[in-house]
Amino acid sequence: MNKGKKLYEGKAKIIYEGPEKGTAIQHFKDDATAFNNLKKSSVEGKGILNNRISEHILNNLNQIGIKTHLIKRLNMREQLVKIVEIIPVEFIVRNIATGSLTKKLGITDGTILSKPLIEYSYKNDDLGDPLIAKEHILEFNWATEEELDFIKENCLRINDFMQGMFRGVGIKLVDFKLEFGRINNEDKNEILLADEISPDTCRLWDVISEKKLDKDRFRKDLGNIIEAYQEVARRLGIMHEKANISEVQFGKPKAVNLKKK
Ligand code: UDP
Repeated sequence: MNKGKKLYEGKAKIIYEGPEKGTAIQHFKDDATAFNNLKKSSVEGKGILNNRISEHILNNLNQIGIKTHLIKRLNMREQLVKIVEIIPVEFIVRNIATGSLTKKLGITDGTILSKPLIEYSYKNDDLGDPLIAKEHILEFNWATEEELDFIKENCLRINDFMQGMFRGVGIKLVDFKLEFGRINNEDKNEILLADEISPDTCRLWDVISEKKLDKDRFRKDLGNIIEAYQEVARRLGIMHEKANISEVQFGKPKAVNLKKK
């Protein structure tokens, strides 16, 4: 599929104009960043794995009635998506306290929360994505009260579904980040789940060993990043037990069915 012009380049993805009006191509890069861009590296094969894992999760969410921007995966690194007007808020859902929550509030790492906690941060790299209150979102018209209610309900449904999905393969869903956007459908605004859901945007711990299977391996220099992401893909049944990302040819434009490897 022919790509149009580059619309946006982020830390881990590039968005190109899509083949039809209202569509875009989301390209997953191997770049990894942390601590608001202070730590940067390239992790070979990460984009391929995140593309597959995010496709799998968004497709499953779609099947339980959650509307997402994903139209279809095009190849190893790209997805065809609907263009949305991104709401400039990161919705963080937490089941277990870790990361910035423990640092900011002195909560013991690993504390199990009595119910899922939803936090908001303002999507602004220059300001370091600061934690904000619902009142900020309403005051600055980043979303309406009605939109927020809808999004919160979606966050909880997504959390319930994903917790079950990961639990079933021996993984604890500790926390994750979601982004939502608007599209105009028959003169009505509709909210869609956007961006990606992958080990870059979730914290995933092995149920028994509590081994980290997510981007904390990069943030904390724990090594074996790709192996951890592959492990997540394998457990979700996306990659065949014996498949290894190093066996996959990088950069090929055609989709590769890893299950057949
Ligand atoms: N997260 C993300 N992008 C961000 C910030 C957070 O995907 O810009 C994810 C992160 O991977 C984790 C969850 O949101 O799964 C909560 O992150 P936290 O607020 O603890 O931030 P961190 O400790 O990463 O600064």
